[in-house]
Amino acid sequence: MEPVKPWVWLRVFQHLHRASLLPRRSHSGCAEHVTAPVSSHSRHIRPTLLVSRLYQPSNLRDVGQDTRLQGEMTCKSQRLMQQAGLIHPSNPGCYYYLPTAVRSMEKLVRVIDQEMQGIGGQKLDMPSLCSAVLWKTSERWDLMGKELFRLKDRHGVDYCLGPTHEEAVTTLVAHQVNLSYRQLPLLLYQITRKFRDEPKPKFGLLRGREFYMKDMYSFDVSEEAAYQTYESVCQAYTRLFTRLGLHCVQVQADTGNIGGKLSHEFQLPADIGEDRLLKCENCSFSANVETIASDRNDCPQCETGRLVESKGIEVGHTFYLGKKYSHVFSATFSSAQNKPSIAEMGCYGLGVTRILAAAIEVMSTEEGIRWPGLLAPYQVCILSPKKGSKVDEATVIAEDLVHTLGETLPQLRGEVVLDDRTQMTIGKRLKDASILGYPYVIVVGQSTLEEIPRFEVICQQTGETVFLNKDGLLDLLGKVETV
Ligand code: ATP
Ligand code: MG
Repeated sequence: MEPVKPWVWLRVFQHLHRASLLPRRSHSGCAEHVTAPVSSHSRHIRPTLLVSRLYQPSNLRDVGQDTRLQGEMTCKSQRLMQQAGLIHPSNPGCYYYLPTAVRSMEKLVRVIDQEMQGIGGQKLDMPSLCSAVLWKTSERWDLMGKELFRLKDRHGVDYCLGPTHEEAVTTLVAHQVNLSYRQLPLLLYQITRKFRDEPKPKFGLLRGREFYMKDMYSFDVSEEAAYQTYESVCQAYTRLFTRLGLHCVQVQADTGNIGGKLSHEFQLPADIGEDRLLKCENCSFSANVETIASDRNDCPQCETGRLVESKGIEVGHTFYLGKKYSHVFSATFSSAQNKPSIAEMGCYGLGVTRILAAAIEVMSTEEGIRWPGLLAPYQVCILSPKKGSKVDEATVIAEDLVHTLGETLPQLRGEVVLDDRTQMTIGKRLKDASILGYPYVIVVGQSTLEEIPRFEVICQQTGETVFLNKDGLLDLLGKVETV
């Protein structure tokens, strides 16, 4: 047997010193914590996130065979999200969002918050249970038809589950009697569940009946000011998608039953997209096919270019509403002349759960999820050696690395997991890591036992594998951006 090198002993000692950090079983045999607890002596050391303890039930059954999804169309993102234990179907168009998906969603929400608050948006939260009275006032109670989930309370009073909140927010603002022109533009937004009884829920989170949407509503003093607000929201959307690395296109859109005069959709080009888009070969014109006469194939903007068709997933939608809702609900402000005036409105949606699934759809391979870097549930996965293998002694190095990364690189705190399923081969665990798509997978193997230890790093976003010493590794991971 090869003699153990002195520095390995040092690491073993360090390991024993913090052994109390590793998971223990209680006498009942149940796991005590999802993460290993922090001892009172070493409060500065954060607990280790262990893959064996993450609640990530993977559904490796063929998604097409799943009886809960019978009749529903499936797609790559849905299959991968179920395989990786991100979502689990409950009933048509409704899903459990499992812990790993929630981490990713929370990151997306933070990026959205930054962008919306960056243009003056203020976050609120409105009831999902919406009174029919408001919807009858706007005449949408009948217009929405079967898409609206309707219910009665114990007194026989009608309600619906909010599919969008123009009525609710306009009523709220109308209740403020002393709203001054000085307080405008007012941009209110929420990120909440929306309910729509879609005729055909499909493609997992891409078209659900219960889903998360960011909906913002703007109130302005004049049409001109409302157009400026509209423009600044479109710019914020463009920034958001750029930060996520998604190449979305802004196209002219139909105003649908939301109503209003001006509208754009943010479309992510994808073959499974349900929207048909037309783009001019010659100029910047692009529009949803719904907005253009069906017999037209020359560009309405430059009149010379040919229109080329492609498909997209609608991830965002902006509307200039004018006074449509503010007039009906009397949302007024007092003008500079101290006269009551009706506010000019806009509304702006982002499909939060749809963005998550659409990003996975366009970025992933058939075998594994590839994330927009900012949205990866965890940035780094460290694979410790297989139990009983000839590099078993490197296990302490893997555990040590988890702590070093957390201590040295503050942005990676809570972002590093240790795949401690050491009964499994490295190959099997690499396959799982590839399905989940951690941007960086570090294999602690033979090369970490050399005089100058080197770590095998698989950069899943680029597909590259590099061998780095500790400084090189810290350099590389120091550049990772988290939110
Ligand atoms: P679609 O045409 O895809 O049915 P929509 O035009 O009815 O969508 P909007 O009212 O514009 O949707 O809602 C704002 C955003 O909410 C959409 O741009 C989309 O990203 C998201 N969204 C709408 N419906 C769903 C759904 N059923 N599941 C997931 N996200 C959705
Ligand atoms: Mg829309």
